Amino acid sequence: MTTAALELKKMLEEKGVVLVAVSKTKPASMIQDFYDIGFRIFGENRVQELVDKHELLPKDIQWHMIGNLQKNKVKYIAPFVSLIHSVSSSSLLEKINNEAKKNHRRIPILLQLKIAEEYTKSGLEEQELTALAQEIQDNKYPHIIFKGLMGMATFTDDRDQLKLEFSKLTVCCQSLGKEAFDLGPSEHPTLSFGMSGDYELAVEEGSNMVRIGSKLFGARW
Ligand SMILES: *Cc1c(COP(=O)(O)O)cnc(C)c1O
Repeated sequence: MTTAALELKKMLEEKGVVLVAVSKTKPASMIQDFYDIGFRIFGENRVQELVDKHELLPKDIQWHMIGNLQKNKVKYIAPFVSLIHSVSSSSLLEKINNEAKKNHRRIPILLQLKIAEEYTKSGLEEQELTALAQEIQDNKYPHIIFKGLMGMATFTDDRDQLKLEFSKLTVCCQSLGKEAFDLGPSEHPTLSFGMSGDYELAVEEGSNMVRIGSKLFGARW
């Protein structure tokens, strides 16, 4: 299993795509196995699990928060989290900014755009996202680093629908313009979309960061 995982990581790297290994529900020992073959970026969707695994595992792991984040829990991950994918309100952004400040750091974030039809999937409407991006540009949140956009598509095999949903992210990113983001000289905005079932299509459609769980670690129970 791990050799296949490594092949996938290399193949994506060659295309300039970052692979976030989504290790939620999987034990620390399994993450350590992936670490030992060269994986450094892991994604979790629960604060407590993220904190526990951060304590147990090597300190050069880059931990990504990919799930719904409650404001009162930001303080637990603020000291070490590498990227928060799922920011979808100004109040959460404000909280992250404050906790980052307390920790004398700036925290990289993505704004989550609502792209799915399913009402259960969260995220900002494009207008709300544009307004928040403007606030960021106006330096209202100096302790966050605005790296890009994230989205979760509908759970479906319908490629046309997936393409349509993914394209909302690339279009939104383009209309914001590169200046909206806080990037290094040769850095591009991060576009985090694509999971085990749809990452190939996501990469074709412009994703440069995929979040893959079950394909790497096996099914979750
Ligand atoms: C669980 C999860 C993933 C990974 O899902 P798989 O289908 O197991 O690859 C990706 N993104 C988010 C936000 C998740 O919660």
